[in-house]
Amino acid sequence: MDRVVAAAPQLANIVPYDPKYLPAQAYLSANENPRDVDGDIRAQIEEEVRAVALNRYPDPLANDLRDLIAHANGLDRDWVLVGNGGDELLFDTALAWGGPGRTFLNMPPTFSVYAANARLTNTPIMDIPRTHGFAIDEQRVLEALADPDNNITFTIVASPNNPTGLMAPPEFLERVLAATDALVMVDEAYFEFSRQTMRPHLEQHKNLVILRTFSKAFSLAGVRIGYILAHPEVIREYLKVRQPYSVDAVSQAIARVVFRNRSAFEPRIQEIISERGRLTEALRTLPGVIPHPSESNWVLFEVPDAPQAWRFLYDRGILVRDFSTAPGLEGTLRVTVGTPAQNDAFLSALRTFVLDPDDRFRSEKGSGNHA
Ligand code: PMP
Repeated sequence: MDRVVAAAPQLANIVPYDPKYLPAQAYLSANENPRDVDGDIRAQIEEEVRAVALNRYPDPLANDLRDLIAHANGLDRDWVLVGNGGDELLFDTALAWGGPGRTFLNMPPTFSVYAANARLTNTPIMDIPRTHGFAIDEQRVLEALADPDNNITFTIVASPNNPTGLMAPPEFLERVLAATDALVMVDEAYFEFSRQTMRPHLEQHKNLVILRTFSKAFSLAGVRIGYILAHPEVIREYLKVRQPYSVDAVSQAIARVVFRNRSAFEPRIQEIISERGRLTEALRTLPGVIPHPSESNWVLFEVPDAPQAWRFLYDRGILVRDFSTAPGLEGTLRVTVGTPAQNDAFLSALRTFVLDPDDRFRSEKGSGNHA
């Protein structure tokens, strides 16, 4: 056959997710941890992985890892579910709580994957845009949730919000949880950098789901481990939609070692928090540059001629994320907090771009990424 029947209609306008990863010397675009897992922990990982039976299917529920996470959060195992990165659990959320005739409440600008998953599952989206300073429009959100005609079945609030940077106010989240029986996922992918969590509210609210990941604070973006904390009845619904073997045995083993050693990651988390402050202050001194406050491991900033600024940085080996044409984020770039040396290189290049326009057009032969 030289043709194929059309794919499902909801795919027609979907553009495949593109992380816009390009070769660079300093990867400051994906909110990863700039430091890899260190030697001592790597040695433990090698030992743990050596004992994995590769010919056997993994434990579908990653129960050993689940127990470690549950214990650390003062919960029983059935309050925890491990997924193939937070991304899988976000998709499972849309599968289990979305669908035609059910509405997802979104608060853009936020993590674009939420809306993409709603579209894939034919879930109508109600957008309530953020207001000045990217604050949630609390009144409108509460009103929308209270109106039964909207039939809002789930909402996802990233806290801190990617890519804007600040937490959702905990008092607001409490009001939401009390006002609706819709599923409320609080995406705490970056909570280790904000040091705040909705965990204390879990037992009072059956509709609260907390999402976390090993990709950021624990340097495991390449391994794909995320987890949710939620009431066991909610976890049971996720069990119905999830792929049974989505979390492979090697990833489970690596995550166990890293989680047992999690206190060793604390100094690098502290370094990221302090570098975040240094980056923000330095950006504030550059004319025309406006950094947005961040409680996470990146800084979103406005810069004149943002697309050219992105190109200028990239030509000097520094990859940041260009949001300059994204709705609600016009004129912004997002820089992930790197090592102090990477942050210095970024600041120095941006300073040149802003303060020395003539230099913008100087050839950068030999230092670019176009080899
Ligand atoms: N939530 C947010 C807000 C994120 O930024 C990310 C990663 N970009 C995720 C969830 C998912 O992370 P992962 O799949 O790596 O666990």
